[in-house]
Amino acid sequence: MTKKERAAAIVEKMKQMYPDALCSLQYNDPLQLLIAVVLSAQCTDARVNKVTPALFARFPDLDAFCEADVEEIGEYIRSCGFYNSKSKNISGLCKMIQSEYGGKVPDSIEELTKLPGVGRKTANLICGDVYGKDGYVVDTHMIRISQRMGLCTVKENESNPALKIEMQLRKLIPESESSDFCHRIVLHGRALCSARKAKCEQCALSDVCKQKIK
Ligand code: SF4
Repeated sequence: MTKKERAAAIVEKMKQMYPDALCSLQYNDPLQLLIAVVLSAQCTDARVNKVTPALFARFPDLDAFCEADVEEIGEYIRSCGFYNSKSKNISGLCKMIQSEYGGKVPDSIEELTKLPGVGRKTANLICGDVYGKDGYVVDTHMIRISQRMGLCTVKENESNPALKIEMQLRKLIPESESSDFCHRIVLHGRALCSARKAKCEQCALSDVCKQKIK
């Protein structure tokens, strides 16, 4: 089996394993998802989902965030960690969306990554989940599992492993499958293929996963 054939088999098997490929962050509109993803950096989705209801109640739309005092935003998101930089980024990205993008969350990686605090992981997620475009979201689960599966490789001390893996995935996973595949990898990382232990004996991917078949 070629790597591309294995990738296709993994994509299909994961559809059976995780039929609901949904983002676990809670949101009602594109801006709320963007802010939730910014908050999720080095924080769990569960923690973000605990703070965002009060944050979004206090600042219900783009105008409210643009007028908000950065310190007040920080008070609402303190428990997510790095709240000083995250609150500055949230305020800054809202102001930029208003001034540069006509009040609409942009729909391209190039534009999204110009926003403060928004990297390729966040930009890919917004493109996939909000706009139905390709979304190759490379987080810690994807970095770990794509290598265990033998789909991607990065050298030790690689300067930007996430970008390298994204580029490799773009050659292996069809655009139309990319966003759902990335959500399924997160679910799989939590369920069976964690950083601490890969439960290969329970995993339906063992016949197509390099870690298991090598
Ligand atoms: S076979 Fe093991 S290493 Fe491969 S995806 Fe499953 S749990 Fe992870």
